[in-house]
Amino acid sequence: MTSVLIKNAFIATADDEQPIIREGSIYVEDDRIVEIGKSIQSKSAEYIIDGKDRIVLPGLINTHVHLAQGILRGLVPDNVSLIEWLRDWVWPLQGNLDENIMDISTKLTLLEMINTGTSAFVATSINARYGVNRVVENVYRSGMRAAIGKQIMDIPGYADHPQILHAGLIEDYQLSLKIFNDLFSRWNGKDDRIWIWFSPRTPGAVSDELFRTIAEIVREKNSGVTMHLAEVRDDIRYFSGRGTIPGRFLKEVGMVGRKYVYVHGVWLNEEDMKIFASTGTSVSHNPSSNSKLGSGIAPITKMLKYGVNVTMGTDGGPSNDDYDIIREMKLALLLQKVSNLDPQAIDVFTVLKMATYNGAKSMGIEKETGKLKSGMKADIAVFNTRAPHMFPRLQPLSNLIYSGTGNDCTDLIVDGKFLKKDGRVLTINEEEVYEKADEYAAELLSRSGLKYWM
Ligand SMILES: [Zn+2]
Repeated sequence: MTSVLIKNAFIATADDEQPIIREGSIYVEDDRIVEIGKSIQSKSAEYIIDGKDRIVLPGLINTHVHLAQGILRGLVPDNVSLIEWLRDWVWPLQGNLDENIMDISTKLTLLEMINTGTSAFVATSINARYGVNRVVENVYRSGMRAAIGKQIMDIPGYADHPQILHAGLIEDYQLSLKIFNDLFSRWNGKDDRIWIWFSPRTPGAVSDELFRTIAEIVREKNSGVTMHLAEVRDDIRYFSGRGTIPGRFLKEVGMVGRKYVYVHGVWLNEEDMKIFASTGTSVSHNPSSNSKLGSGIAPITKMLKYGVNVTMGTDGGPSNDDYDIIREMKLALLLQKVSNLDPQAIDVFTVLKMATYNGAKSMGIEKETGKLKSGMKADIAVFNTRAPHMFPRLQPLSNLIYSGTGNDCTDLIVDGKFLKKDGRVLTINEEEVYEKADEYAAELLSRSGLKYWM
């Protein structure tokens, strides 16, 4: 039996019953939280964290992660809009990725997420050329929880741009189905941490028939789906060209429900929102990426009002450019306040819930994780408050979200095990990543026929 005691810390639980516990303690035995509160019975444990200079949150949940893009950070010019960004830069780079570069990109991304307090994530768009089994194996070994989306497509297009996709990324859908089935039987449900999902490329890259096939398999296997949706106006033009809107179309082909996570949703309208709310479909909000690419501000306060399960995501290395959910929460707050011309539009509790409990709900694991409560899995992120940007410490949660970053994380526990302890990530070989990342990125750039843009 292993046990951990965090004592006398400021705890933000993401649980409505008791959102804040000042000078609180948490006792963990094996993989679960046994006790949490102001005064608890357990006084000792194998490992004790003194919480005097700490704020404790549920492990953060990132519902939109491109593992293939960790290695693309900084490679793509920071002044292009989505279609050009994809066509001229991201796709040529990803279309030249091989298994060895993907190995380092995956480890780099996992390293950054663990370092900044993320316990679980949804991985999007895993192409066969990346070496899917090795990707899943790396995620499993990292100790994190993840729903990993195998890419699937049958048209080399994007929205109403047919034939636009880079040749290196085009996949045969029958091969994708086979890979999905192999991965699913080998990994799905392993240790209650790994799930295999579908990641249809985008609308315009998947036929209606294939959407229906995916929905049927998902229902049969109780799997899940993640897909980019309504990110830019071109996406809406694609649907209106077919006389429909995203929500209506997806409902028609059966692609709505629990464990359906649609990413961005910047241009969704009220009818889309009502459909998503009534079917339990989730939206992943990625404000940095939407800002950097000039895509727009997702109307998430409206989505929340309609009852949509809105979660937080970072997107990838060339669009964010970090995988830090704390920084993402701040931008989510600011953008809603300014776009609504209302400082009361959204608050830190709502955003914290989006980044924890709502994320767990979107992955179908909210009974096990996403809030700090006795009986839940021990997925816990601890942050340092003994730093200039955290003082005075009367309102540490507000300080962490508005003034901190994920780099303030000192410890991360997932499933009762330390992935980061006392400032050091334990489950990824940092030196291996640092040794290879620069060299591999340079090799990938030249292999893709691209140059330094700055
Ligand atoms: Zn994305």
